[in-house]
Amino acid sequence: MALKIAFIGLGAMGGPMASNIIRKGTPLTVFDIAQTNLDRVVAVGGTAAASVAEAAKDADIVITMLPATKHVLEVAAGPDGVLDNMKPGGILMDMSTIAPSGTDQLIEICKTRGVCFLDTPVGRLASHAIAGKSLFMVGCDDEAVFSAVKPLLDAMGDTIIRCGRPGTGIRIKVVNNFQILSIAQITAEALTLAEKLGLELETVKSVNGSTTATNGQMQVNFATKTLLGDTAPGFTIELAHKDLGLAMEAAGELGLTLPMGATAKATYDTARQGPYGAKDFSALLDYACEQAGIAPPRLKAPASAA
Ligand code: NAD
Repeated sequence: MALKIAFIGLGAMGGPMASNIIRKGTPLTVFDIAQTNLDRVVAVGGTAAASVAEAAKDADIVITMLPATKHVLEVAAGPDGVLDNMKPGGILMDMSTIAPSGTDQLIEICKTRGVCFLDTPVGRLASHAIAGKSLFMVGCDDEAVFSAVKPLLDAMGDTIIRCGRPGTGIRIKVVNNFQILSIAQITAEALTLAEKLGLELETVKSVNGSTTATNGQMQVNFATKTLLGDTAPGFTIELAHKDLGLAMEAAGELGLTLPMGATAKATYDTARQGPYGAKDFSALLDYACEQAGIAPPRLKAPASAA
C-alpha cells in the first residue's frame, strides 16, 4: 500500500516545496491555516486536510515547514497534533528554522512516542524552492530513515548535506543564517554609503564581485530582488529577525557574545516595526536609504530583447 505523506505549512517555502513533490509524482496530504496557501498546493494536486490532526492521521511521514519554534512544537506535540495522530514508527521531518533547544525537545518527545525524527532545515532563497533547487542540512544518523525521505528531498532540491545526528542540521542552519543576515546588513550599509558617495551601482557591484568582498547578498539576493525594485518576500525581515535571535540565543546559552550579530539584530528589530517587517530582507537597503534620506539605488533595467 502507498505511504501516506503529509506536508504542513505551505507558505513562501513550504508551498513550492510541497508542489514540487506532487509534480514529481508523489501524492501529498497538505494543510495550512491560511486557505489561500492551502488552495495553491491543492491546485497542483495536493489533497487538502481540514486540520493538523486530519493531515497527520495514520501518516507514515509528516513534513513540517512552519514559521518558528512555538508553531512547530504546537503542531507536532500539542493536543491532537502530529504525534497524537501519525503512525507509530513513522517519520517526522521538521524543515523549519527553529531554536536548536526546540529541536532537542522534539527529539526527546519523538523518542518517547516511538516516532523517528530528523531536522532538515532548508538553505537558499524562496526562488530556489520554486525552482526545486533548495539545499538541505540533514540531521539524521539513521540510514533507513534517511533513505525513506531522500526521494522527497530530491524532488524539492538539488543539494543534500548530511550534518550528523538529529539536532546538527538546525545548528548548522542557525550558524549559516547568522552569516547571511549579518552580511545582508553590511551589504545594505555599503550600498547606502556608495549611493551617498555618488558611485555607479553597476561598478560597485562589479568590483565587489571581483574581490574577496564578494558575497551572495550583493551578487544574488539583492541583485535579483531590491536592486530590481522587487521587495516582495522571499524571506521576510520579520523571519530574518527571528533567525538572528536564534543565533544570539544559541550563543548566549554557551556564554558567547556575537557583537556583529547583536548590532545587525538591533537594525532588523527597528526595521521590522513598520511596513518593512513583511518585506524581503534585501529591503534592508531601502530601509537604510530611508534612514539616510536618499532614494535606494536600482540596477539599470536589462536591455529589452526587441
Ligand atoms: P511563511 O510565513 O511564508 O509560511 C509559513 C506557513 O505556515 C504559512 O503559510 C502559515 O499560514 C503556516 N502556519 C502557521 N501556523 C500554522 C499551523 N498551526 N498549522 C498549519 N500551518 C501553519 O514562512 P516561510 O518563508 O515559508 O518559512 C518557513 C520556515 O522556513 C521558517 O522557519 C523560515 O525561517 C524558514 N526558511 C525560510 C526561507 C525563505 O527564504 N523564505 C528560506 C529558508 C528557510
